Amino acid sequence: RRQPQVEIRHAADLVVQLSTSLQRKPDVVDFGTVFTDHMLSVEWNANGGWQTPLIRPFGDLSLHPACSALHYAVELFEGLKVYRGDDKRLRLFRPLLNMERMSKSAKRACLPAFDQSELLGCIKRLIEIDQDWVPHLGSGCLYIRPTFIGTEPSLGVKKPNRALLYVIMCQAGSYFNTELSLWADPKYTRAWKGGTGDCKMGGNYGGTLFAQQEAGSYDCQQVLWLYGEDHQITEGGTMNIFLHWINEDGDEELATPPLDGIILPGVTRQSILDLARKWDEFKVSERYLTMGQLCSALKQQRLKEMFGSGTACRICRIGSIVYEEKVQNSQNSSSWDKSLSSNLLRINFALFQHGRSPSDWTY
Ligand code: PMP
Repeated sequence: RRQPQVEIRHAADLVVQLSTSLQRKPDVVDFGTVFTDHMLSVEWNANGGWQTPLIRPFGDLSLHPACSALHYAVELFEGLKVYRGDDKRLRLFRPLLNMERMSKSAKRACLPAFDQSELLGCIKRLIEIDQDWVPHLGSGCLYIRPTFIGTEPSLGVKKPNRALLYVIMCQAGSYFNTELSLWADPKYTRAWKGGTGDCKMGGNYGGTLFAQQEAGSYDCQQVLWLYGEDHQITEGGTMNIFLHWINEDGDEELATPPLDGIILPGVTRQSILDLARKWDEFKVSERYLTMGQLCSALKQQRLKEMFGSGTACRICRIGSIVYEEKVQNSQNSSSWDKSLSSNLLRINFALFQHGRSPSDWTY
């Protein structure tokens, strides 16, 4: 009996077709609009398993109109960045956490398993080929988007017999230290128990655009996603959420919601928890947080700061929240205060990512 092959072919088997017409690199671009010269793709089918990985000139895909990714959102993706250090070397930040999360999403999407370190090896090769795209100046970097889609060419709602894993890359600009405004209304839900909110599947995102648009009508930039009767705080836009406060028991605490199935396990979230636990200066908790608790903390001036975390924004302070038709200002202190934990975390991550401080988190 033929066993489906579950390992991605060896990164060493990689076939490379170089582009003969390299693009001019633009100066300033909107995020996610201009892609590098090459992309990686690897096909899979249930009979032959993983095919030889290929790096080829960036270009369109050809898909069957019945393709399962298009009809049933059998699709997932990842997001990570490569940074240029002061020593000119390129570094990825904890990429194995992305590979692990991608494997978990693939399992939930009924897409085939792959070898995480072989995929990382292929991505490394793609970065080497397009390395000139990683900005040489400033804090700009290259955003890497691994994508995995079901390409089953039939309308049956079933586990796909064909799939395509591909990786594209685009420039990501410098970081801005702006404050975010969030709109919190329990009428929309991003994720629910037993759902797919803890996986990075495309369907989780398309369904949020409508609420995001409504947030805009309240002059807010993002949605603060609430859950349940007690209006638990879950995530903000596509970021994990942290409160640094004096909690109900009078303890200084850095708190974020627990990974109970409705929270995406962010790489930045994990790194904040790891760093703050190492600092050992205040209590660090993964716990439920409700809007009621946040509002009392604001009233009693117990909130030091609230921020979101993610690869795209790194760490972004939350300035205000519109909740029950009222604007809650969530920051009392000035926007650049070195002692704030968000700033300390931001500084630490930049040290690692740009190679100014040695770290076993970089690859
Ligand atoms: N939550 C959601 C819903 C996200 O899409 C992201 C971005 N991947 C995050 C949180 C932050 O995760 P990370 O720190 O791995 O970028």
